[in-house]
Amino acid sequence: MIVDRQGRRFRNLRISLTAACNYACTYCVPDGKRLVAAQDELSAQALVRGVAYLIEAAGIERLRITGGEPLVSPKLEAFLREVSGLGLQDISLTTNGQLLTRKLPLLLDTGIRRLNVSLDTLDPQAFRRIARGGDLASVLDGLEAASAAGLKIKLNMVPLRGQNLDQVMPLLDYCLERGFELRFIELMRMGHLARDPNGFLQQFVGMPELLALIGERYEYLQADAPQDATALRYEIPGQGFFGVIANESVPFCRTCSRLRLSSTGWLHGCLSSSNRHFVGDLLDKPRHEALPALQRLLVRALGDKQDVAFSGGVTVMKIIGG
Ligand code: SAM
Repeated sequence: MIVDRQGRRFRNLRISLTAACNYACTYCVPDGKRLVAAQDELSAQALVRGVAYLIEAAGIERLRITGGEPLVSPKLEAFLREVSGLGLQDISLTTNGQLLTRKLPLLLDTGIRRLNVSLDTLDPQAFRRIARGGDLASVLDGLEAASAAGLKIKLNMVPLRGQNLDQVMPLLDYCLERGFELRFIELMRMGHLARDPNGFLQQFVGMPELLALIGERYEYLQADAPQDATALRYEIPGQGFFGVIANESVPFCRTCSRLRLSSTGWLHGCLSSSNRHFVGDLLDKPRHEALPALQRLLVRALGDKQDVAFSGGVTVMKIIGG
């Protein structure tokens, strides 16, 4: 097993199925142009082989499928059907939910039981301003259908000053009423935001402010979370849970166990590092040739992790999926 000086190792893999997305969120895609799939994206089979090799070479236990938007990818079905046979402890998916109603039968059929759905507002106009694609009603329909089908749902919200702070409480109530867990994600200095500190600070809302806002209405207690969890979890007794991914306020680099594989075959050991390691060519090779080379790259990817805190990264979230 590859372990660093801080005792960190890779356990959780996030795989970006495609860079294509049907949204162009303001904080992710500054020019507002929706992303299309890259020319050199790997096939579903190569990506599944990547997961299999990384289970062996790095000890990956859990997989999250992301994007871009994974539900727009024509590779989704083939990928899910094959990857579900690899014996992972958990496979989950992060989606904007726009196509959720349509893709739900496939997700259920391939054993997906947990979803993270990104939703920054319940206000249709603000939704159009932030997401710049899709429509709110389709997401809400998808959430109801997925919940009725028994999927465990977390909602991801990025609070943005001047855009959706008035939605913190409506989204929290919406989640508490349905048994969903709301996750506030502090805005990260990624892509264009890493190059524009003022623009970042103008929009950034930190955990203390969020907790104060919630505390005006609800009493909450800190709740248990796995040791390598990114979110701090809170319980509102008798009502439910919420969490904050406080990458700025309470950095979690010391316990980070995440590894990312892009749809074009690049490994990223850290969102805050501009280093990446190409493994696309290894995925065509037989296991005995691929694994030693992969292990060498994994050592370098683990070395890319920050010691203490996330300091921002030029890597764009839309490519590697958060
Ligand atoms: N399309 C899928 C979705 O919407 O969930 C998966 C990809 S999206 C890039 C994954 C998550 O990253 C979303 O919850 C999104 O809000 C979040 N995200 C993107 N850019 C971010 C940033 N700069 N700071 C914090 N979260 C960000």
